[in-house]
Amino acid sequence: MKWDLSYLFPSLEAYEKGYKETLAIIQSLATFKGKLHIEEKFKEYFALQKEFQKIGLRVYQYAMLKSDLNKKDTVDASRLQLVQIAYHKLQEATSFEEPELIAIGKDQIMEFVERNPEIKEFKFGFEKLFLRQKHILDDKSEALLANFNSLAQSGRELYSSLSVADIENQDVMLDSGEIVQISNSNYRAYIQKSASPEERKDIFEAVFSYYEVHKHTYANIYKTVLEADYALMKARKYETCLDSYLFNNQIPTAVFHNLAQVARTHTEPIKRYLKIRQEVLGLSEYHTYDRFLDLAHSDKEYEFEDAKKLFFESIKNFPDTFQKKAKTATEKGFVDVYEAPGKRTGAYSSSMPDLHPYILLNYSKTLADVFTLAHEAGHSMHSLYASEKQPSTLQDYTIFVAEVASTFNEHNLLDHFIHNSNALKEEKIMLLQRAIDDIMSTFYRQTLFAIYELEAHKLIESGQPITADNLSKIMIDLYQEFYDLDITKEGFKQYVWAYIPHFFYTPYYVYQYATSFAASLKLYEDVKNNIPGAFDRYQGLLSSGGSDFPVKQLIDAGVDLTNEAAFVAVVNRMKELVDQLEVVLKE
Ligand SMILES: [Zn+2]
Repeated sequence: MKWDLSYLFPSLEAYEKGYKETLAIIQSLATFKGKLHIEEKFKEYFALQKEFQKIGLRVYQYAMLKSDLNKKDTVDASRLQLVQIAYHKLQEATSFEEPELIAIGKDQIMEFVERNPEIKEFKFGFEKLFLRQKHILDDKSEALLANFNSLAQSGRELYSSLSVADIENQDVMLDSGEIVQISNSNYRAYIQKSASPEERKDIFEAVFSYYEVHKHTYANIYKTVLEADYALMKARKYETCLDSYLFNNQIPTAVFHNLAQVARTHTEPIKRYLKIRQEVLGLSEYHTYDRFLDLAHSDKEYEFEDAKKLFFESIKNFPDTFQKKAKTATEKGFVDVYEAPGKRTGAYSSSMPDLHPYILLNYSKTLADVFTLAHEAGHSMHSLYASEKQPSTLQDYTIFVAEVASTFNEHNLLDHFIHNSNALKEEKIMLLQRAIDDIMSTFYRQTLFAIYELEAHKLIESGQPITADNLSKIMIDLYQEFYDLDITKEGFKQYVWAYIPHFFYTPYYVYQYATSFAASLKLYEDVKNNIPGAFDRYQGLLSSGGSDFPVKQLIDAGVDLTNEAAFVAVVNRMKELVDQLEVVLKE
């Protein structure tokens, strides 16, 4: 039930050796400065880059995973820091690369590639580079910017220190008299189990009061994130920060704006669903954290092994290759299952080229945890498909398509549950709620957050102050617009902007949960409806890894996100599900 990191390095000594090799490669990469126009040197340089991929990424993976198992272990933390420093050095050492390649020119580079098949895997990267050309500065300016890379990332580290390392979990006395320690990763489960509004309030506030106490610090940390985005946007001559984030993957801004537009103008089914919830749950007042409450109840616990079995059963009609990938993804030693002191909260799958992916869970035996397993397994399977078909530099898929495989598994698991539930009323309600909540949290909530990021970036772009109050104001307005809820009546909810790590770690990330959700719903429905070739096209997408631009990859797989229709389809599905729920509740 724990990770076996000896797959990466059999011992700490082996790790240290790998780390030193990484440093040596970084040093030699720097010696190619001014020489890339010589074909032989060009070849050698990219061969060395491949070497770095092999050893450097393995080192990073090991240090990161080890540290995530216990964020309080300072030895692990400093090991990771050393690797991060090495990566900053890499950026400095190779900052000459892009300006030099641009100076050599696209025609010459492409000739090099044609003549030397061993570097062909870099071709797509070069094409991307020449697209970005107008945003890349001269040699001197790039070197200057590289000096500030580490500083520009400091918001993330500060956020992590404040939210993970320094966090003090509060004790709450439950109505039963039991005193429990409430943490970021267990509070949802306690609210879900709670039958009293006061108790739920206490549990919620135990987590969220922290964000109010530290609201100015959080606002200032976020300000550094926004300032770094804004400075880079200006230095690289983008129109807006959003443009700077979408440009590299050639995502048309229409995709972002269509999504936001469709979600915010179709909030009727959300509001109808919340009314139904309030009525069924018999609540005089509805709070945001009441979303964790179940409309129908089951004490059923799912042991981890059962969760795995359920997941495997759900995919048993899919091709063998797909099933094999699922087995491999969840193999012993590659899933760290249960919560532990100091362990990173939440869940993820982490993969590096040509290496077996690792899954982190904080498994607590709920139905939601079963879906989380299927979700993370989807990510790992995606990586396994890509590593089978693509050279190492083209395996890493963009975050834009990353959530397709994960949510595809979830749609499928849900249908499996529905068809095997023998259709008791309670079970039908639970599963419908699950499907609706999925759209609520992945499509609507993430789009709300995406609009928040857009508004926050607009503040910095238009020279407005970034304060806790300003950030809260954006959230207050959005919750009103989307849910018809006044979150100022709820203690601390307005600080939800400090609670979401993605805003700090990876700006303009979360909208991709919603776009991915829309894409995977369409691909899944094509498979379910036996559209000829649908599963092959889907596997084609997984195998394509990061070998093409994501919107194009999705069009090839059968879904066009530049068209509003893909998002309207999610809204229609939401309406259908809420209709069904109303019918079942009246049965
Ligand atoms: Zn995911």
